[in-house]
Amino acid sequence: MLTAPADAPATGPGWKWRAVAERDAEADGAFVFAVRTTGVYCRPSCPSRRARPENILFFDLAREAEAAGFRPCKRCRPTELSLQQARTLAIEAACRTIEAAETPPSLATLAEAAGLSPYHFHRTFRAVTGVTPKAYAGQVRERRATATLRDSGGVTRAIYDAGYDSASRFYDGAKERLGMAPRTFRRGGEGEVIRSAIAESSLGLVLVAATERGICAVRFGEDARALEAELHALFPRARHLPADPAFSELARSVIGRIEQPEAALELPLDIQGTLFEQRVWAALRAIPTGETRSYGAVAREIGQPTAARAVARACAANPVAVLTPCHRVVPAAGGLGGYRWGSARKGELLRREGAGK
Ligand SMILES: [Zn+2]
Repeated sequence: MLTAPADAPATGPGWKWRAVAERDAEADGAFVFAVRTTGVYCRPSCPSRRARPENILFFDLAREAEAAGFRPCKRCRPTELSLQQARTLAIEAACRTIEAAETPPSLATLAEAAGLSPYHFHRTFRAVTGVTPKAYAGQVRERRATATLRDSGGVTRAIYDAGYDSASRFYDGAKERLGMAPRTFRRGGEGEVIRSAIAESSLGLVLVAATERGICAVRFGEDARALEAELHALFPRARHLPADPAFSELARSVIGRIEQPEAALELPLDIQGTLFEQRVWAALRAIPTGETRSYGAVAREIGQPTAARAVARACAANPVAVLTPCHRVVPAAGGLGGYRWGSARKGELLRREGAGK
């Protein structure tokens, strides 16, 4: 929960303050704000006059505001499912449809199933997932190709099985996404637009950053300014912009994943690393929630049984905490082992996932 510092201006940093100040309907469903002086809580878009910032409290859920003794506002009815929430559910359904389909469904088909116009569907899809439906279908297809490659070893067959119409297109995409070719990130994010936000989670502050293709950084920290400095050091040449509503939606999904590991919405990632790191990270993402692996087991998994130390280094270089679950790798000898963001956080993440039960 975020509470207002006494001198916090309603238009100051932080997407929640901005959403409330701008009556941003896109933020409805993400949180509610309560007013100490009236005892009422509202959606961000509520048309009512705004209270002084020092009297405003934020809650992630309506029921948390109720538990704290606040009543729902009669004007904005914050307890009802918001348009935004209904849309998020529709987009999640579309993601599942894309994943289940042999060939990607057309935009018109997906839009119709979601009850939106193609234009609106496209826009909403991007707002919720951070990528276009076409890019999402491309990622799904690539994941299938990678999985088939591992199982069968037959490159060309895997490419056709995954629905690529020409092998060269697969290699074009793979080169880009597997990090085999030097890319913009190697040059400090030159030409990239990166949006970021820092939010509070139960494990401390979290910085979430994304390019137009997906999430590029998730980092824990104790200090917002230090986190911001880290991001700028990682991508010194990128254009850094504040969160817009589409990005805020994405950032909320990330926080949701941290708080509720079982609610695993597949999020688009845009992470750069060496080919070796990419293979380690992909192996980590294949570890089911609630399970752990040893560094050696991951090394065997990627076909390099003697590379346990290099696996540990790749874990330490993981750019997206939790989404690539490097916390699920522990020493074979027992204990938690190291974690880039502290062993206490690692232990807490594993406890929440029910690991070791
Ligand atoms: Zn209201």
